[in-house]
Amino acid sequence: MQENQIRQFKAALQNSKKAVIIPHKNPDGDAIGSCVGLQKYLATQNCEAVVIAPNAFPDFLNHVPESNEILIFEYEDRNKIIELVQEADLVWTLDFNDLSRCGGLAPILEKYAKKFAMIDHHTYPSNYAGELTYSDVSMSSTCQMVYHFIEMMEDLPLIDKDMASCIYTGILTDTGSFRYRSTTSTTHRIIAHLIDIGVDNSQIHAQIYDTNSYDRLRLKALAINNLVILKDFKTAYITLSQKELNIHSYKKGDTDGFVNMGLSIKGVEFAVLFTEDEKEGIIKISFRSKGHFKVNEFASAHFEGGGHQNASGGRSLLSLNETVTKFKSLLPKYQQKILES
Ligand code: 5GP
Ligand code: MN
Repeated sequence: MQENQIRQFKAALQNSKKAVIIPHKNPDGDAIGSCVGLQKYLATQNCEAVVIAPNAFPDFLNHVPESNEILIFEYEDRNKIIELVQEADLVWTLDFNDLSRCGGLAPILEKYAKKFAMIDHHTYPSNYAGELTYSDVSMSSTCQMVYHFIEMMEDLPLIDKDMASCIYTGILTDTGSFRYRSTTSTTHRIIAHLIDIGVDNSQIHAQIYDTNSYDRLRLKALAINNLVILKDFKTAYITLSQKELNIHSYKKGDTDGFVNMGLSIKGVEFAVLFTEDEKEGIIKISFRSKGHFKVNEFASAHFEGGGHQNASGGRSLLSLNETVTKFKSLLPKYQQKILES
């Protein structure tokens, strides 16, 4: 951020006594980690902040300190949420670039929020936060940005073990355990600092990655069984119907990472996961790529989605079969781009 913008953020912090912090719908490790991490930082600035998530987050994030205090909009009284937004002098939106990404909360924020601040690493940020937009698409995670933000506020010494654990969680999950190209030497230096502060990195890894249920493993086996490789397009896709999810008592977060199984196959450049969601009446789609093929552009052009160049999401209102048919019919047009990836 430029000096001028840093000054604006410092002034906004000084004037803010009551805030709300919003992650995107279907919050992941980065969304939850960054929101709670920022909440803890704001507390050191005498600002009382509440985190309101549009819907529930997966159990494997329960270790995030005080994540049990996060309000889940879907389960709360709507008027209570409206009141909190009305009372807030600042509404922070983290890990997303457009209000449409926070589901049913969006109209409430549009109507009642006095002022916004955004911290995010997705492309094409909307302008609702004006000068208080801290956007950087080169960043590994919004959690890394929260660290840089605190650094720019000249408050790094205020990061305690809990705050550090929140920030660690999001960097860990959004970098695929420090694998993706967004992982830089700076990312590793920050991680080193967080461990010096006291983060129990080994324990956080175990809490996130070694807490499978038997049902989830069985669902993973089913997903592998359903995996289809389209060799000519260096593409792999997996479908999971609602019925298949039900067989293995699907819980939120159970399919996290499944799309990467397709991408892990040698020669595959483009991997997709189609998940039927009967409650929402949609097919949720995850797109991943290895090289230069921009899956966010593919998702926004054809499946009402977006995200990052190598990791994006979208949705379809067609049936599962029709969605896959539509997807396959699009591939010839993108063949060259995928193969050159
Ligand atoms: P996932 O496949 O894990 O749900 O999402 C991958 C990435 O794409 C995340 O960075 C997420 O924020 C973004 N993403 C997922 N679904 C959507 C969507 O419907 N719209 C947009 N704009 N981005 C999405
Ligand atoms: Mn993120």
